Amino acid sequence: MNIRTIILCSCLLSQIAAAGTKVKGLRVWTSPDNTKAVIDLSDQVNYKLFQLSNPPRVVIDLENTTLEKQLKLKNNPVIKKLRKGKKGKHTLRLVLDLSSEQKARSFLLKPAQQYGHRLVIQLDKPKTKKKTVKQINNKQDRNIIIAIDAGHGGEDPGASGASGTREKTITLQIAKRLAKIIDKEPGMKSVLIRQGDYYLGLKKRYKKAREKRADLFVSIHADAFTDPKVHGMSVYILSNKGATSEAAKWLAENENNSDLVGGVVLEDKDNILAKVLLDLSQNASMEASLKSAKKVLAALKKIEKPHKKQVERANFVVLRSPDVPSMLIETAYISNPKEERRLKTKDFQLKLANAIKDGVKQYFYQSPPPNTWIANHVKTTKHTVASGETLGAIAQSYKVSMTDLKRLNNKTTNRILVGEVLILPKILP
Ligand SMILES: [Zn+2]
Repeated sequence: MNIRTIILCSCLLSQIAAAGTKVKGLRVWTSPDNTKAVIDLSDQVNYKLFQLSNPPRVVIDLENTTLEKQLKLKNNPVIKKLRKGKKGKHTLRLVLDLSSEQKARSFLLKPAQQYGHRLVIQLDKPKTKKKTVKQINNKQDRNIIIAIDAGHGGEDPGASGASGTREKTITLQIAKRLAKIIDKEPGMKSVLIRQGDYYLGLKKRYKKAREKRADLFVSIHADAFTDPKVHGMSVYILSNKGATSEAAKWLAENENNSDLVGGVVLEDKDNILAKVLLDLSQNASMEASLKSAKKVLAALKKIEKPHKKQVERANFVVLRSPDVPSMLIETAYISNPKEERRLKTKDFQLKLANAIKDGVKQYFYQSPPPNTWIANHVKTTKHTVASGETLGAIAQSYKVSMTDLKRLNNKTTNRILVGEVLILPKILP
């Protein structure tokens, strides 16, 4: 680069700066870990941020910036009040009054999907000493832990339906229903990775599952496509080598963009290490991922014909846990008006949640991790149907309910065929 180009560059920059940046909006998201204030900007900005205490507050000075419209702050437990003022001629000062001391950090985000330039201010509660977590997972008869991840959230709405339904809302509703259903199963316990309307980074999602020592990670989503006629559910596991189909690749790119939209600092420093770890320990959990995903897909088939008959593979960041078997379920196409309507109903959400639970249960009944209540107390046997037998008689002879028997075998009717192999559970004291 010669001197002329440098001068040219700085001229361009000062021209942009002269035009001024506008503050266009504000959104605030609060999660159990932190609060994020997202300021929409018309352009990039130079800014300074500092904190003051007594009372605790965060001051943001935005150079050469004006307010396009009044910013509204909805009720928030962390940010009590928003004040604005001017510092000198061209600097807009925003003050966030806080209800308690917080550690503030900030970063700028480039335009992504529906958003333009953004300044994100992240407020973290000061760290209190963490209680040492007991290794509960090593005790006898432990529960199997299912981590349920509701896709998207907060700043990242995910896909949207024609009548305005947002993927982030649907996924959280289904996840909560699934959690409740799983908690009713003896020997199983759910962990909700996202609990409200806020965004969690993709890596953070599987890290959380690992912290909770999950035996399985299930990410819930709703698909979208340009063609509104496309419909049906799909189940995915991670692929390191590339997606099964072009459509799967397209989808993975979209889902992985969440971090750009959701407002997290992208740190890729640990990518090489992550890759090594991934290659070393992932084979075993990949096998478990495939087995459990097959069971879930089979159970979902009870509801309707799926979009793809097989378990698909794609490179979803959220599935990259090296040691927790993971799957991602696209429950339906939110871009299909009929499916959008259905996705909102309690009835369909419950059907989905029950089918996912059935698939997960079948998998763990057949391949329980050692020391778990299921490994110690549930023995499954196989029964080949002989001529003249009825499902009712078989259920009675094994002392299981018809509902359990049908669920465990993905049956919607009482019809059985001679020679058919049924799975039968036996609960030991
Ligand atoms: Zn999604």
